[in-house]
Amino acid sequence: MRRVVLCYPEGKHKALTLSYDDGRTADRRLVGIMNRHGIKGTFHINSGLLGTNDRLTKEESLELYAGHEVSAHTVTHPTIARCSKEQLVYEITEDRKQLEQIFGYTVRGMSYPNGSFNRQIKEMLPFLGIEYARVVESTKTFAIPDDWLEWKPSCHHKHDLMGMAETFVGLHKQQYLYLMYVWGHSYEFDTDNNWEVIEQFCEYAGGRDDIWYATNMEIYDYFQAFRQLKFSASQDFVWNPGAGSVWLSVDGRIVEAKGGVQTSLA
Ligand SMILES: [Zn+2]
Repeated sequence: MRRVVLCYPEGKHKALTLSYDDGRTADRRLVGIMNRHGIKGTFHINSGLLGTNDRLTKEESLELYAGHEVSAHTVTHPTIARCSKEQLVYEITEDRKQLEQIFGYTVRGMSYPNGSFNRQIKEMLPFLGIEYARVVESTKTFAIPDDWLEWKPSCHHKHDLMGMAETFVGLHKQQYLYLMYVWGHSYEFDTDNNWEVIEQFCEYAGGRDDIWYATNMEIYDYFQAFRQLKFSASQDFVWNPGAGSVWLSVDGRIVEAKGGVQTSLA
């Protein structure tokens, strides 16, 4: 039987994504740095706080986050494990509605405000239309999440970011798929007066041919698309019922299984 394994787009085996919370005005500088180096990420926003204090307005958010993903972070940033289920439903559903009205696409991801969650919350999320949710506990690895509603990042930018980046860039074993996931808050670069941390990182990790730069949702959707593939029992061919391509390594040969068609693997 031929050996078929999943690859990232164009046959890559490394992906990088960033995740920054709260939608503060410091995101202006962060997004500028990311865009200069072709790095993509997800911004988890409290819709009820837009335009207050040092938070971006709706209009500026729409412009600034173009090309990145905006995802939910609740309306008002409560510690949700302390909230009633009624409050939780409101905080997530209303955040989705407001963000969807501004950004014009279905909001399906979130990060837990204050990192707060529990099993009951996780079980409720799919009924609120949330498909992935990021936590704050880091793995210090480049592993693919097993539980997307408890998506652990690789590291916070304060924790040896360049050391992690050098390890990541140096990874070469093609038998694994790697994901580097960095999270934080952009205002921390102001507070800690260390914008050079993210500038150096983006300059070093960006613009590489062997890395797929993607938002959180693009990565999630890609793995779902792979799970949806309909392989023949022999693995002679595969039907991709989705819209986007999924890339496979077939006995070491890179094959693009295009959306909506059947692809021969022979
Ligand atoms: Zn937050």
